[in-house]
Amino acid sequence: MCARRGRCRSVVIPFPKIVAVRAFTARGGGADYHDQGAGHWIDDHIATPMARYPEYRASRQSFGINVLGTLVVELEASDGTVGFAVTTGGEPAAFIVERHLSRFLIGQNPADFERIWDQMYFSTQYYGRKGLVVNAISAVDLALWDLLGKLRQEPVYHLLGGAVRDELQFYATGARPDIARDLGFIGGKLPLHHGPAEGDEGLKKNVALLADMRARCGDDFWLMYDCWMALDVDYATRLAHACHAHGLKWIEEAISPDDYWGYAELKRNVPKGMLVTCGEHEATRWGFRMLLEMDCCDIIQPDVGWCGGITELIKISALADARGKLVVPHGSSVYSYHFVVTRHNSPFAEFLMMHPGPTEVVPMFAPQLLGEPVPHNGRIKVSALDKPGFGVELNPDVPLHRPYSN
Ligand SMILES: [Mg+2]
Repeated sequence: MCARRGRCRSVVIPFPKIVAVRAFTARGGGADYHDQGAGHWIDDHIATPMARYPEYRASRQSFGINVLGTLVVELEASDGTVGFAVTTGGEPAAFIVERHLSRFLIGQNPADFERIWDQMYFSTQYYGRKGLVVNAISAVDLALWDLLGKLRQEPVYHLLGGAVRDELQFYATGARPDIARDLGFIGGKLPLHHGPAEGDEGLKKNVALLADMRARCGDDFWLMYDCWMALDVDYATRLAHACHAHGLKWIEEAISPDDYWGYAELKRNVPKGMLVTCGEHEATRWGFRMLLEMDCCDIIQPDVGWCGGITELIKISALADARGKLVVPHGSSVYSYHFVVTRHNSPFAEFLMMHPGPTEVVPMFAPQLLGEPVPHNGRIKVSALDKPGFGVELNPDVPLHRPYSN
């Protein structure tokens, strides 16, 4: 209560400015979830667009899927608070952050994330727009939100408008949906193993695996196929119809992310009731506008570490919401959870099963993050997110390398 009526003024406390930007690389699992040892399900003859070349068919590492590694971005404020984030991008993304993006951060107020994002995107547009550059922008943006949450002592989901439900529920991505069902997940998404180059015999094997999992999981468990951009419209259409009898819930990222026309055709071709999903390798509001306006899919799956960060995901999600489409972000652990729980059009989330089997639930970004919540009985309570920022810390035992400085 003000003692001197009429002379009270609300006071805005000056916010700490960003004083340091650091970009590191790290190897082995974590944000680059493909950077796994031999024998992991995630590199077991999975269908890819490179599978048309027999020498690159057995392993995604053979064509360089893990060549970039992890990017870690740290932003330090003038009061010593450090926000950080991880994504994929490795050394070339570290160069972009240190030598190009840092100029838009040093001396700035971390609450000005809209202007900072705009400057990062348009200053790099002549060589960016998607892919590696937007990965780097995403990491900086996520680090900004982490810093903002730590400075305000609030979890990021509070800053995004608060939770619209009490818990997150998950489907599991991995080679053992039958085990995922026993662990309490609402569905299981299998990697597709055989692409068009393996002909009708490969297609039959794909259908047989789904039929086997359906028999193990019962009629009511969701089963999906992730095709990792490996197919063409004709093959994807034939696969969808062949899998319909086995209750395939959705066919994911069936063709190249550049083929918007193909996705629109596939969506028209699939059996009624089967969903088409895509967007894991799409970026920014403009890319997702194409998917939505061309009616390419039923669910968009932006990766918050690749699509432009939280600042951009807000805009992407609003576009989808107005069109009655669901947003179910790709993987990304806490960086997705804090967003998903604030949106009604994100009713469930993906959990990547990073155990090699995968027969157990392990933290998705292990070993790089500490304090990462994992589903119990397929669910995470919102209260598990109640820590400042994204609520995770870098594991000090994971070696970081800083290849450049600004
Ligand atoms: Mg996918």
